[in-house]
Amino acid sequence: MADEVNHWIGGTAREPSTGQRLEVVNPATGDTIAALAAGDAFDVELAIQAAEDGAAAWWSLPVAERSRLMNAWADRVEEFANELVNLDVLDTGKPATVSTGSVARTAATLRWYAGWAPTIRGASIPVSDEELTYTTYEPYGVVGAITPWNYPASNFATKVAPILACGNAVVLKPAEQAPLVPTRLAQLATDAGIPDGVVNVVHGDGPQAGAALSSHPRVKKIAFTGSTETGMALQRQAAGITSFTLELGGKSASLILPDADLDQAAAAVVNTAFINSGQTCTAGTRVLIPRAQHDQFLERVLAAADQVTVGDPRQESTQVGPLISLEQLGRVERLVATAEPDGARVLRGGQRQQPPGTSGGYYYPPTVIDQVTPGSTLFRDEVFGPVLTVTTYTDPADGIRLANETAYGLATIVWGRDQAMVREAVAGLRSGIVWVNTIHRLHPGVPYAGWGQSGVGAELGTEALGEYMQVKTVWLGDGQWRSPWQ
Ligand code: NAP
Repeated sequence: MADEVNHWIGGTAREPSTGQRLEVVNPATGDTIAALAAGDAFDVELAIQAAEDGAAAWWSLPVAERSRLMNAWADRVEEFANELVNLDVLDTGKPATVSTGSVARTAATLRWYAGWAPTIRGASIPVSDEELTYTTYEPYGVVGAITPWNYPASNFATKVAPILACGNAVVLKPAEQAPLVPTRLAQLATDAGIPDGVVNVVHGDGPQAGAALSSHPRVKKIAFTGSTETGMALQRQAAGITSFTLELGGKSASLILPDADLDQAAAAVVNTAFINSGQTCTAGTRVLIPRAQHDQFLERVLAAADQVTVGDPRQESTQVGPLISLEQLGRVERLVATAEPDGARVLRGGQRQQPPGTSGGYYYPPTVIDQVTPGSTLFRDEVFGPVLTVTTYTDPADGIRLANETAYGLATIVWGRDQAMVREAVAGLRSGIVWVNTIHRLHPGVPYAGWGQSGVGAELGTEALGEYMQVKTVWLGDGQWRSPWQ
């Protein structure tokens, strides 16, 4: 019998009121590893009530104490980092090296926002001598958070750290495919002394538990990370006046400018496209290369792709593990099947493969597809699997135009030496992040925001603080007010 994983509500584990369970599967083997609480609207209501009490207790604490407790939580995350990494490997199939980075970012993000909490302040606005006019920033109370499965640890902290720093409590619904790390993080919050009800986790599937949370009339703020399709559904199913921060899908380009260092750029595109089996929202999978450099560059990309070690994520030598689920594997296969009918050429991968030393699991090899035309499905749609596409362009302006030619706008990666050309590209790109001659740099102090269909609002940085507070404006009269009607 698999371990049971329950909700974490009001500082304690709670069984699902439905009595129903969902299977949690190890993607590296296909084995069931846990029986997850399948929450519904009743469980969400319990969590929101607990969070309302938690929010009142949290906001009544001196801010220095809130900050201290968030740091104590970060200490716990560091203390139990190995356990969290092991849970993450088991639950998502990522190699430990990738999980280690995600868990370290979790602790760092909690610490960063613990530091920001005491700095939150309003302003005094000198409007007239008769009044004192000032602003204060206050929490919403309960914030709902809904997260995906690709980086369960860092996705959790990216939401919860600024939410708590602003004085709110949270009810978080993680993706049902990867619930182990979020549950453990919530337990560690309680162990660290964070008051009961401040950090709550409700499990269940999106259409039931997620929808009950995002459409709850007493939850005025929702922070969501997931697909653009679900982000749109959340906005449609909102019950009242709800504010959403949405971090959604992407189809990021790797724009290789004519004078780029091709060796470096080839190594980078292989890394960005295949790390975490391509299940990274900012993966620069859509390679754009000048026609004249196509052959030399492709040769380097194929050589680097051939070196990637796919296998059991528990092996130290493994660089790429399985996809998260059979469903995701099917999605990748369906999208790759459009390549050749659309005139593209699959040069590597393109079919399910069982890596040596593994049995079962949802493996898909690093796949390189050349001659992908603008407008084709693979050029336009997010795959969220280890699939890199190559498209040529004529001149830098054409490259910039193609980089922008999707509905998304999450990140773009630019490789090039000439500063004028790089600046022109940066200015012309319509995406929330531009990495130049580097990839996937993240820091809790640096904002992260999607443009276009990739999102609304920002995460991380001081920008995230603005997402989780309400401004209150105070006009304090001097007692001399007289009615103009008297
Ligand atoms: P997803 O299917 O949209 O699910 C995300 C979360 O929403 C899960 O917890 C899911 O629950 C829940 N959900 C599904 N339907 C819902 C509904 N009707 N109401 C409320 N909640 C609902 O996305 P995913 O497959 O987990 O993650 C992959 C996607 O996330 C990709 O598109 C990727 O680009 C995007 N992503 C974006 C960022 C970013 O920062 N921009 C970061 C990471 C991932 P269940 O899965 O349990 O049903």
